[in-house]
Amino acid sequence: MRLARALIKAPGRHLFAVGDDWQSINRFAGADLSAMTSFEEWFGHGHILRLERTFRCPQSLCDVAGGFVQANPSQLKKRVASDTPSIGPAVRAVEVANEDQIKGALLRLWQQIHQDLAAGKLAPSRGNKVSIFLLGRYRRDDCYLPSWAQLSDRIDVRFQTVHGSKGLEADYVFLPRLVSGYYSFPSTIADDPVLLLALPAGDDFPFAEERRLFYVALTRARRGVTLVTIQHQHSPFLTELRRTRGLEVATIEGEASRTIPCPDPKCDGSLVPRKSRYGPFLGCTNYPRCEQKAKLKR
Ligand SMILES: [Zn+2]
Repeated sequence: MRLARALIKAPGRHLFAVGDDWQSINRFAGADLSAMTSFEEWFGHGHILRLERTFRCPQSLCDVAGGFVQANPSQLKKRVASDTPSIGPAVRAVEVANEDQIKGALLRLWQQIHQDLAAGKLAPSRGNKVSIFLLGRYRRDDCYLPSWAQLSDRIDVRFQTVHGSKGLEADYVFLPRLVSGYYSFPSTIADDPVLLLALPAGDDFPFAEERRLFYVALTRARRGVTLVTIQHQHSPFLTELRRTRGLEVATIEGEASRTIPCPDPKCDGSLVPRKSRYGPFLGCTNYPRCEQKAKLKR
């Protein structure tokens, strides 16, 4: 940016730049969001054009993803419009009981797609197939990929990290582990404090970079996104979508989620069964930071 600014100093020189501040996810590699969000401070007066049409995601998905990323007030405002027809729900959330059930749940969901294709209930996409991205927050999430033998010849499944998926697209996107806690999304692994000294300034909004990363994940899909989570370990991003968009979370059998979001609207935890000397009760996963409690319903 400093080089570009120096090059255009002389009269008669102009700068034309294209970027998307909503997809700025490479701060770890030195990407500086202020090139877009503070463009005029960097380069002086400029004419800003907004690209507000997408040819990929259906409108309902654009609305969920766009609303989510713009919860951070420092992102540039825009409304993305789409003419892509929607096929099935834009975003759905599936809850499994524990870690070990994720792989099996994904396989069942993909077998359902295969059956719907075979029965003519679902239209194939390019090459008479449908494409699926399994998008991991971490490279280790590729462990949820079933073996090729278990997959259909009409479904192309590819694993990518969300970072690696930028610029790519598939019919369906699956996030295998949208959870809080260990190896969570949003990631709570702090950047190396030494490395931080060399990185461009981040923004103050909590999990701002992870929020943009989640936006990138959602907007890879041409048809829809499935978020897989674990009971009582819902990611704060999932809790936010339940609160702000009324997103329903259900088990693969279609039963409503038993994970209860914390009643404190500022808390991103959920209420889980706990025991005290007075007997069992529901307490917030963010205890002792949050002391919300509820009676255990029998
Ligand atoms: Zn709480």
